[in-house]
Amino acid sequence: MHFELSSEQQMLVETVRRFVETELYPHEKLVEDTDNVPADIAEDIRRKAKELGLYAVNMPAELGGGGLGTFDTTLMERELGRASYGLQMMIARPSNILRGCEGSQIEEYLLPTIRGERHDCLAMTEPDAGSDVRSMRTFARRDGDDFVINGTKHFISHADVADFVILCAATGEAGGKKTISCFLVDFDTPGLTRRRGPRCVSHRGYHQCELIFEDCRVPASALLGELDKGFELMGQWLGSTRLQVATTSVGRGQRVLEMATQWAATRKQFGQAIGKFQGTGFKLADMKTELEAAELLTFRAAWKDDQGTMTDTDAAMAKLFASEALARVTDNALQIFGGMGLMDELPIERFWRDARVERIWDGTSEIQRHIISRALLRPLEA
Ligand SMILES: Cc1cc2nc3c(=O)[nH]c(=O)nc-3n(C[C@H](O)[C@H](O)[C@H](O)COP(=O)(O)OP(=O)(O)OC[C@H]3O[C@@H](n4cnc5c(N)ncnc54)[C@H](O)[C@@H]3O)c2cc1C
Repeated sequence: MHFELSSEQQMLVETVRRFVETELYPHEKLVEDTDNVPADIAEDIRRKAKELGLYAVNMPAELGGGGLGTFDTTLMERELGRASYGLQMMIARPSNILRGCEGSQIEEYLLPTIRGERHDCLAMTEPDAGSDVRSMRTFARRDGDDFVINGTKHFISHADVADFVILCAATGEAGGKKTISCFLVDFDTPGLTRRRGPRCVSHRGYHQCELIFEDCRVPASALLGELDKGFELMGQWLGSTRLQVATTSVGRGQRVLEMATQWAATRKQFGQAIGKFQGTGFKLADMKTELEAAELLTFRAAWKDDQGTMTDTDAAMAKLFASEALARVTDNALQIFGGMGLMDELPIERFWRDARVERIWDGTSEIQRHIISRALLRPLEA
C-alpha cells in the first residue's frame, strides 16, 4: 500500500486546479447572483475543457472519452468540487449508466454525449417516491412495438439543459415488488413536459426540474439494458455518483479550510490574530483532520472500484462521512469568519448553504447509514 500520487496524477490535479481557478472562479459571483450560467460562458467552459482533454474523462478512450479509471476521475472531481456546482458541471462526466447503450443507442446517445453535443440527466425520484425509489409510480406500459409512459418525476438535476433523460420507470411486478426498467427519452418527445422546479438553497445556477409524462410514447429501442432489470443497472453505477458527491465535498471543504486558515491568520482581535486563540485554532485542526479522513475513505473506495472490489458500503461510508464532514467544516469556517461569514460579499455563506444538499441527494445520510448497518447485520440474520 502506498499513498503517493504518480507524476501523471499530480499533473492531472495541477491542470484541473489551474482550470478551475482561471476558468471557473471568475464567473462564480455572477452565477450566484443571477442563479444562471449564461449560455456563452457554458459553451466557452465546455470548449476549453475539451481542448484540455478534461471532458467526459470517465468514458472509455476507445469511444472518445478520457479513459480515466474511477480513482483518477475522483481525483479530478475533487478539484472540480472546489468551484461553483453550476459551473463545474459544465465539464460533463456523462452518467456511467450510458455505458449500457447498445445498437443504435450508441450513435444516438452515448457518442454525442461523450463529444459534448448532447447532454443527459437521470430521473428516478418522484414526489411520492424519494428514498423508497422502488415505490415509483411512473409506469411504462408495453403497447405493440412501443412503450407508453405516464407519471411525474421531480428534483431532476440539469434537466433544463439536457437533451434527453435516462428515465427509470416501473414496467411490472415480481415477487410482490415493482420491477424497474431504464429508458432513453428525448426531451422533444410528445407527451413529455419539463418545468423548472422551485429555487433550491444550495448550488445556485444548477437547477432541477419536474418531468411530466402523459401518454408519452417511445419505441422499444428506447429501452436501456434489459426489461425489468433497471434497478440492477442503476445499482451497478450508483456507487460512482456517491463517490462524486464524496470527492466534490472534499474538494470544496479544502478550499473552505484554506480560506478560513488565511482569515484566522490575518484577522486581529484583542491585539492578535484570532488563529492564536485556541477556540479558533482547534476548529482548524478538526477541519483539517476530518477532511483528510474523508479523502482517505473516498480514495480507498475509488481505488477499490478500479480493482472491481468496491462494495455498496464503501461508497456509502465515503458519501456519508465526506458530506457530513463538509457540513461541519463549512459551519466552523463561518464561525471563524464571524459576521462577515454571513455576508454575501464573501463566498463562505454560499459554501455553507451549498453543503446542505450533499447530505440529501444521491441517498440521504440516513439511507447511507441504513446501507452500512444492513451490511453489518444481514449476515447475522438480524
Ligand atoms: C437539489 C436536488 C437535486 C436532485 N437531483 C436528482 C436527480 O438528478 N435525479 C433524481 O432521480 N433525484 C434527484 N434528487 C432527489 C434526491 O435523491 C432525493 O431528494 C433523496 O433521495 C431523498 O428523497 P426525498 O427528498 O423524497 O426524501 P424522503 O425520502 O421523503 O426522506 C425524508 C426523510 O426521511 C428519511 N428516511 C426515509 N426513509 C428512511 C429510512 N428507510 N430510514 C431512515 N430514514 C429514512 C430521510 O433520510 C429523510 O431524512 C435531487 C434532490 C435534490 C434536493
